[in-house]
Amino acid sequence: MDVEIVAIGNELLLGETVDTNSAYAARRLAKIGARVSRVTIVGDDRERMRKALAEARERSRWVITTGGLGPTQDDVTRQVVAELFDAPLEIDADVLADVEERFRRFGYAKMPESNLSQAEVPRGARVIPNRHGTAPGLVVEGGGSTFFVLPGVPAEMRALLEEGVLPALVAASGDAVPVVRSRVVHTAGIGESALAERLQDALADTSPIEVAFLPDLGMVDVRLTLAGYSRVEADRRLDVLAGEIIRRSTPWFYGIDDETLPQAIGGSLVERGWKVAVAESMTSGELGAELTSPAGSSAWFVGGIMAYANEAKEALLGVPRETLAHHGAVSEETCRAMLAGARKALRAEVACAVTGIAGPAGGSEEKPVGLVWIGVETPAGAQVRKLDLPGGRKEVRRRATAATLALLWRQLRPAESER
Ligand code: AMP
Ligand code: MG
Repeated sequence: MDVEIVAIGNELLLGETVDTNSAYAARRLAKIGARVSRVTIVGDDRERMRKALAEARERSRWVITTGGLGPTQDDVTRQVVAELFDAPLEIDADVLADVEERFRRFGYAKMPESNLSQAEVPRGARVIPNRHGTAPGLVVEGGGSTFFVLPGVPAEMRALLEEGVLPALVAASGDAVPVVRSRVVHTAGIGESALAERLQDALADTSPIEVAFLPDLGMVDVRLTLAGYSRVEADRRLDVLAGEIIRRSTPWFYGIDDETLPQAIGGSLVERGWKVAVAESMTSGELGAELTSPAGSSAWFVGGIMAYANEAKEALLGVPRETLAHHGAVSEETCRAMLAGARKALRAEVACAVTGIAGPAGGSEEKPVGLVWIGVETPAGAQVRKLDLPGGRKEVRRRATAATLALLWRQLRPAESER
């Protein structure tokens, strides 16, 4: 089942807004076994939009559009779709009541005149109600195609995709129709080529399953995709290969599909009855924020100390003044002292620490921008690593956070296999 997406808006062409809607829709569509065959971006220009939509209708049975459903005169998707399908726009009484009600709830005495256009529906189209905003989605059929016309605001687009588009596509595809299915095996703490070497034999001939290595921030995902089989058969085949990959990538393997590294870390900590605390300098809370992203993290995350200045490292983490004076804040010694300090201050079995130079200023010959010390201490001892990270300030912080999570994961893993 192929689906085409047309993303509409001048802001997308100007590069001011990144087209996250198409990416989101593509991911969700892949989950239900539909494949995006093309993404087109077009501006708020009637003629260009008409052409793009007409071409999409020529090519594709299913088309999703996002954007251009606002109440202002620059948003013209509704009109262009109506003209394309030769269906005059008519005020829909239910939609109008919804939009008016929304304005009342926002505390307006009366709906602005311009919002009337959002209650217009091409004759014969179906409405996907929008509980999150004023522009409803539309389902328009004709010429052998079905168009799902969605608003551009990401939260609204996502909700209408879930509520009005995916169920319709699932219903249309049925269960026996060949689909595209995928599995993603996540690993942390091993490089792409080292992982590829370990998997070499298992991946020698995987046809018809396609395998892709997707490295990001020092973590590597292996994505398996299989097209042309029924859902059940595809899942069976993917599970066999995924199982083999997991076996060979343990202990770096941490999860499948939507499972995240912080979730896996939490699970491992709970299993051991340990809790973790963090001591952060350069990352200033990013590590704690990442670790607490899964619901229920209070079961295994104690807290963190953000100690940016030397004074804070000394006062809050007990890093000795001499250590800071002799070795500096970005050093193995300080990192180790931060670990010990966090475990003690927060009474945690496990601690993580990060100290580094994110730049762009503050580097020196001896300690350049991107120099970072990360560490993890468990009851089995402390492990520290020196990193030399590329990128700007944000990138260095993100990479340091990811590397610390990977190091934590590795420290939680080996003992498990020894038990
Ligand atoms: P619109 O439905 O065209 O009025 O879009 C409303 C807002 O949604 C715009 O201001 C954009 O910030 C955002 N938006 C529109 N299209 C996209 C897209 N494809 N991806 C992400 N955001 C978008
Ligand atoms: Mg717009």
